[in-house]
Amino acid sequence: MKRVLVLAGTSQARELIGVMPVGIEVTASLAGVTREPVDLGCATRVGGFGGVDGLVAYLRAARIDVLIDATHPFAAQMTRQAAEAATVAGVAHVILQREGWTPEAGDDWRFVDEFDAVAGIIPEGCTVFLGTGRQTLEQFANMTGRRLLCRVIDPPQRDFPFAGGQFVVGRPPFSIEEEVAFFKGEAVDWLVVKNAGGARSRSKLDAARQLGLPVVMQRRPALPDAPVVRNVGDCLTWLADQG
Ligand code: NAP
Repeated sequence: MKRVLVLAGTSQARELIGVMPVGIEVTASLAGVTREPVDLGCATRVGGFGGVDGLVAYLRAARIDVLIDATHPFAAQMTRQAAEAATVAGVAHVILQREGWTPEAGDDWRFVDEFDAVAGIIPEGCTVFLGTGRQTLEQFANMTGRRLLCRVIDPPQRDFPFAGGQFVVGRPPFSIEEEVAFFKGEAVDWLVVKNAGGARSRSKLDAARQLGLPVVMQRRPALPDAPVVRNVGDCLTWLADQG
């Protein structure tokens, strides 16, 4: 029985776990960010490992044969640490990360590496939809004079960390029609989005195009030097090749 650890927290990880072949004992790992995560239907551990050393110790103690990093494209720290820990522990390792979005005709996207550049792009007086998660909010503290709407999965336990912002609670996916209605209802002028990729969460970008709204798109962080597969089918092929 091959033991596989899947670093999860994404719909792609869930999809992969749902189609794992027989003969594989899967454990999923969640960071513990979402308060009521969807049941993955396999053994699941929750919380950080304690850096590279902690993950190496876990891989050894649980006698993991294969590490599949299916974390979000912007979970750069975990991805970096996973690559290093797999090398140290001598465990086969692959990154499952879907392709990023690319603009289509009619899309009006401006690209940034860091969110502190957004204030130089979006003028004061605008209403801005932040699809970037509550963990990024501190990076928008320089956006004074704009109305910020930050969509979160869990109801917030604290107020918005600075003036001019409010939380909007909602669990994806959202249809294009739902996004259009939401952006119209809130009179949104701009979107700020991470280049997460994936068909389901593209709906906000399709809605923006329909409404003629401009989008600030954060580029993805660089990947470590490790094999990368872009979809679940290719990941299963890679897994089968590990013997
Ligand atoms: P991150 O900045 O790369 O990682 C921060 C720390 O969280 C890591 O050093 C690790 O702690 C722990 N961690 C992250 N993912 C983990 C996992 N799957 N299992 C166990 N520990 C994990 O990560 P993040 O951006 O905060 O993302 C956290 C989780 O949310 C990930 O599972 C990711 O897939 C998911 N997610 C992230 C985003 C996003 O935009 N960043 C969006 C959707 C979902 P230790 O160093 O203690 O091991």
